[in-house]
Amino acid sequence: MLQIQNNFPLKDLNTFHFDVYASSYIKTNSTEDLRTWITETKPDINRLLVLGGGSNILFTKDYPGIIFHPSFDDITILEKKNDEVLIEAGAGKTWDEFVEYCVENSHYGVENLSLIPGTVGAAPVQNIGAYGSEAKDVISKVNGIFLDTGKEFSLENRECNFGYRNSIFKNELKNRILITSVVFRLSTKENYNLKYGHLEERVKEFGDINLRNVRQAVTAIRSAKLPDPDKTGNAGSFFKNPEIPASLFRDLQTKYPDMPGYDLNNGTFKVPAGWLIDKAGWKGKTVGNAGVHRDQSLVLTNTGNATGRDILSLAASIENDIKNKFGITLEKEVIVI
Ligand SMILES: Cc1cc2nc3c(=O)[nH]c(=O)nc-3n(C[C@H](O)[C@H](O)[C@H](O)COP(=O)(O)OP(=O)(O)OC[C@H]3O[C@@H](n4cnc5c(N)ncnc54)[C@H](O)[C@@H]3O)c2cc1C
Repeated sequence: MLQIQNNFPLKDLNTFHFDVYASSYIKTNSTEDLRTWITETKPDINRLLVLGGGSNILFTKDYPGIIFHPSFDDITILEKKNDEVLIEAGAGKTWDEFVEYCVENSHYGVENLSLIPGTVGAAPVQNIGAYGSEAKDVISKVNGIFLDTGKEFSLENRECNFGYRNSIFKNELKNRILITSVVFRLSTKENYNLKYGHLEERVKEFGDINLRNVRQAVTAIRSAKLPDPDKTGNAGSFFKNPEIPASLFRDLQTKYPDMPGYDLNNGTFKVPAGWLIDKAGWKGKTVGNAGVHRDQSLVLTNTGNATGRDILSLAASIENDIKNKFGITLEKEVIVI
């Protein structure tokens, strides 16, 4: 089925809660109907946008084209073999409900990604990650449809060009496709990834090491650390953690001995963007209704009636300041529309 509406409000479909509208909005849970609509309408793909939960998007204005909102939300077990299970989840399924399903059914591999907002269909787009796990570690295939021809595709993991918060869907296939479902390869054998930070200790606070307790620990850490978008508009980490040349990292460490960095063993170091923003003195600062969160400098917030342009202008000031102070260019993780 396709539900088509015009002049559609997006306030509840973007976690910054900007009061913007889409010229047209199409909700669909049928690949068949979508294919028919595309072949009959032959839409201009420069005026199409796929929107999941809107938790990684910043709208600077009303969207002057068509927004597709996939609502496929089935979960199907495709195969169980040896110690693995192949599960297909619809793109519109809420990501955290999918994680909950896996935890309750003893499927190992996505528990560290508990409580990440958004939908299953968006998970491969920026290769979501948290607490030492990334979606790419468990994605087997991504299925979808080309928005210009209506042709279906299925990409194997290696064809998705996954990288740090990156994939083919943010590059060559950007704005050209709609992901309809994702196939995950999960383990049915006990298998945890608790090396990140103090995760193992936090899990033990809940009792034995098991899937439910890992999920509870991750949920508790995230809830304490990150602002709830339902209360304070935000889109999680606004910037990516920059990867800088080892020579620059060493120079900066001479000046700032407490500067953290992770050696990527390829001549570059990954530096926490939050540390740079803190060090530059932005933590807790607000400009009008656009703010830098008081506990998490990487998160920019809508503290009232900010617009996308207000947040973007604050982001630009931060980017300039970080460039001037550290010689580092910050790259946005959030997609600006
Ligand atoms: C409080 C908070 C915490 C967060 N923490 C994390 C974190 O720990 N790790 C992390 O990686 N991210 C995090 N995020 C970012 C966000 O949750 C993820 O990027 C999530 O995957 C976005 O899902 P969404 O459905 O909201 O996508 P949207 O914001 O709707 O869309 C994001 C991009 O994906 C595209 N897209 C969405 N669905 C589809 C589809 N079906 N087919 C094709 N393209 C599609 C959109 O066009 C857009 O380009 C956080 C966000 C918030 C608000």
